[in-house]
Amino acid sequence: MPDIRPTVGSGALVLNATYEPLCVVSVRRAAILVLSAKAVCVADGDGILHSARSALPVPSVVRLTRFVRVPYRTHVGLSRRAIFARDGWRCAYCRGPAETIDHVFPRSRGGRHAWENVVAACARCNHTKGDKTPAELGWRLPAPPTAPKGIAWRVLGHRAPDPRWVDWLDLREPEAA
Ligand SMILES: [Zn+2]
Repeated sequence: MPDIRPTVGSGALVLNATYEPLCVVSVRRAAILVLSAKAVCVADGDGILHSARSALPVPSVVRLTRFVRVPYRTHVGLSRRAIFARDGWRCAYCRGPAETIDHVFPRSRGGRHAWENVVAACARCNHTKGDKTPAELGWRLPAPPTAPKGIAWRVLGHRAPDPRWVDWLDLREPEAA
């Protein structure tokens, strides 16, 4: 096991042999993949990792040498952080900084806890809204809330991408089989 000290940078992007982004792993895990020839480094990060016998640049993007078949999660998990990230940490009603999660159609009236019924909201709007619907208050949502989609969401979730990963994550979604 290489003696790899933790470094700056939270992780490395792993690409399939086909260059399709798969997931984010720790830099240490990515380095072990490279050292064991299970992956090759595609883009370096900052700094050098030292093992007992060798040194290698901190991997930022690695590509697996063998194709792995991965069953995709078809939907993004609904979490507080993910909702804030989808909505840009802005209140859906007043565009101010969001601190709370609002159920558009109130839960107290049977509204579901689902991507299509949750938005980030500031405490004030959330409190004012109470158990009313936006229509009852004459409020409008800029767009109906939907579940986030796309490679970046599948790979990163609410995590902020390293700028070095952007080229890879902008890949077009493969056509659904
Ligand atoms: Zn608000």
